[in-house]
Amino acid sequence: MASSPTEKPLRLEASIIKRDDHSMRLSDLTPNTQKVLRTLTDHDYEAYAVGGCVRDRLLGLTPKDFDVVTNATPEQIKACFRNCRLIGRRFRLAHITFGREIIEVATFRGHHDEDAKDNLAKQSSDGQLIRDNIFGNIEEDAARRDFSFNAMYFDARTENILDFADGMHAITTRSIEMIGDSEIRFREDPVRMIRAARFSVKLNMIIPDKMQAIIKEHAHLLANIPPARLFEEVSKLLLSGNGVLTFKCLQDLGLFKILFPALEGSLHDPKGKEYQLITKMLHNTDERLASGQRITPAFLYATVLWYPMEERAQQLIFDGQLSPHDASNIATGEIIHRQVQRIMVPKRFTIPVREMWTLQSRLSRRFGKRPYQLLTHPRFRAAYDFLLLRGQVEGGNLLELADWWTQFQEADADLRAAMIKALGGNSGSSRRKKSRKPRQ
Ligand code: ATP
Ligand code: MG
Repeated sequence: MASSPTEKPLRLEASIIKRDDHSMRLSDLTPNTQKVLRTLTDHDYEAYAVGGCVRDRLLGLTPKDFDVVTNATPEQIKACFRNCRLIGRRFRLAHITFGREIIEVATFRGHHDEDAKDNLAKQSSDGQLIRDNIFGNIEEDAARRDFSFNAMYFDARTENILDFADGMHAITTRSIEMIGDSEIRFREDPVRMIRAARFSVKLNMIIPDKMQAIIKEHAHLLANIPPARLFEEVSKLLLSGNGVLTFKCLQDLGLFKILFPALEGSLHDPKGKEYQLITKMLHNTDERLASGQRITPAFLYATVLWYPMEERAQQLIFDGQLSPHDASNIATGEIIHRQVQRIMVPKRFTIPVREMWTLQSRLSRRFGKRPYQLLTHPRFRAAYDFLLLRGQVEGGNLLELADWWTQFQEADADLRAAMIKALGGNSGSSRRKKSRKPRQ
């Protein structure tokens, strides 16, 4: 069936790292995670904390979430808890809810054996796993995981760690190690390539040269991932507080242009406006996250796709003698449509992207009551922040315009009136000028 290289299922054996030989303790798990583990083991199931929470704890980081695995099936898990819901299509998982905290509990996953009678694991012709829902034992579950530091299982009863792929080695050497053959594992699931980039930045680890070369060679396979899956992955990548470094890592590995094909060919020069706008936006986003401010994926997509949209609009004006307004509208539709074929950005974010873009030209038309109306527009703040970024990148008139809006917001009523008056005929403002004038 699969024309790509395949390998025999990996057989892994656990090394037991005794509690005295590592730093993780039961109290590092949230009380609810402890409760879930205890309930499952009280029902005579095996249960472990696994993945990110063990890895992050051993690296001295604060775990973001706590994943539990067990040999109980989803139905058996459900029978143990009143507050349990089964979710997921690709993988069936149980969510145990305690107020705002959700503990994700998964059943051990088995090998994708081509001979398996029920053949629940399927591969495409690229070697990519399409469905993967066979239950297994802990050894098989470990072999299905991506990187060695993600296959460490914390036993809450003994506080020992079962380490199936020498994850401890990766943690001490700060090097990302794939479980099994990197090329096969990246082909099976190309999302692992962006996970490698994410972990290398988040965990401050290196991607060995050989793995980097394999990623560069297989980056194009990311295009086969269902767009709906990529939205969450890309948000985790770029909107988790390490955006600038992760962007640079994705660039080095040739992955960014696969995620954002409209930028292909525009990011070679770090001094170029496209590169500058993206890194400035990610820098702001990282700072906002560090200071606990809210961020929205709409700002990310509006920024990343802005220059491709502008360029397309210019081309439409040139080709079809369209008005700037019509050309921008058409270009906006095209660029967003193409992007959502790769990353399924939900409408609740693409609508604000459109609004932020439309507001860019409205911000330059500052006559009469318009500036006052714009201040009350629900998307004004985002559009203004975006204008500031553009001003920092392009300077000149755009920077003056952004500064004008900064002052206008801070000014009292008299000063505001004076500011509009002072623009006189130079505000790009006369109604007659409006119709065919190019923006900015
Ligand atoms: P974080 O939660 O900090 O992003 P994580 O390692 O917990 O990191 P999750 O996406 O929560 O990442 O996945 C939980 C675990 O599931 C991982 O530790 C890994 O063992 C496994 N896993 C997730 N995605 C994949 C994948 N694409 N291929 C193989 N294993 C995966
Ligand atoms: Mg996790």
